[in-house]
Amino acid sequence: MISTTPIDSEAEALGFATRAIRTGHQRTAEGEHSEPIFATSSFVFSSAAEAAARFSGEQAGNIYSRFTNPTVRAFEERLAVLEGGESCVATASGMSAILAVCLGLLKSGDRILAARSLFGSTTMLFDKYLTRCGIETDYVPLSDLMAWEAALERDTERRIRLLFCETPSNPLTEMVDLQALAAIAHRYDARLVVDNCFCTPALQRPLALGADIVVHSATKYLDGQGRCVGGAVVGDRKLVGEEVYGVLRTTGPTLSPFNAWVFLKGLETLELRLLAQSRAAADLAIWLTQQPAVEQVYYPGLADHPQHQLVGTQQRTGGAIVAFRVRGGRAAAWRVIDATRLLSITANLGDVKTTITHPATTTHGRLTPEQRDAVGISEGLIRVAVGLEAPADIQADLARGLG
Ligand SMILES: *Cc1c(COP(=O)(O)O)cnc(C)c1O
Repeated sequence: MISTTPIDSEAEALGFATRAIRTGHQRTAEGEHSEPIFATSSFVFSSAAEAAARFSGEQAGNIYSRFTNPTVRAFEERLAVLEGGESCVATASGMSAILAVCLGLLKSGDRILAARSLFGSTTMLFDKYLTRCGIETDYVPLSDLMAWEAALERDTERRIRLLFCETPSNPLTEMVDLQALAAIAHRYDARLVVDNCFCTPALQRPLALGADIVVHSATKYLDGQGRCVGGAVVGDRKLVGEEVYGVLRTTGPTLSPFNAWVFLKGLETLELRLLAQSRAAADLAIWLTQQPAVEQVYYPGLADHPQHQLVGTQQRTGGAIVAFRVRGGRAAAWRVIDATRLLSITANLGDVKTTITHPATTTHGRLTPEQRDAVGISEGLIRVAVGLEAPADIQADLARGLG
């Protein structure tokens, strides 16, 4: 049994699946095999002196579950090892992970430089709420490295402190070269934050490519079966272990021990799921290109994808998300969605159940038509997050509406 401190050298030598199954848990005196759920809000001290030592930080140990809980810590340690980071802070949701990073790293007057194609609530957080704290965000096209660099070059006062992106993007699966983007960020003394929700560390490890911080919506693939909402931040001891942890400890968007336990179990099958779901997605993407009703298919694994060369290098597979545009706009897209009997019409993704969405009227419905055009979210676009059902059944379900 490996007792882990995040990223100790022993854990690093193990295969990904072994780390995902074996790290993080420190067996208690009860000898339990599965990780226990510590359903307790606070912890007891043996004396007043011990309580004082814990509170002052002189002695490590549990105090109160807003910021110290063994089940949550087990999940944090396991994810840190998988992403290759020194520290991990778990949060109540993916959005609170992003908020904690911004509060931990930025102050009034600082700016964010972000990819234009971001999860809708992330854009809302930046534009509506961070602006109230005096933090403004500029947007550039995700894959256009020259646009990122030009924006930093224009910022002569060096107010851009943080670069933020998701790769591949939702739902069009555009990608950016993370190694190149990290180098650009560091030339201008800024930090690169990557939302690694779509790939997870099973397919892509941004920290090894030079990113400073990885954020997760654990709600998606880390859970893998659509049960719990949660998030996490991974990075080095200073930025994450001190700055982001300090925000969590004080402001309190804490992950519950039960949700942490579900994510721990999810991590154990993460690689297996992602590889199988990627294979099914690749087959589905090829099949979609052969359907006359389909105008365009967006999938990184297809040879005509603009950043196809990053598959197999930056990210291990094309991932499990496929988007496609049907002829006939919204009416045709809705017909395909409504003709399905198996697929779930829901905005969530990362589940073993395949989900189908019409981005223009759901996840991206809050954007103006002009904003949607700018990011390429057309009315005929459909997103499928491929699950683990028999691939032939997923195809047959889509074929009904495409026929
Ligand atoms: C879902 C999602 C989020 C937000 O996560 P929640 O857990 O829903 O708060 C952030 N980024 C991406 C890419 C997502 O898909």
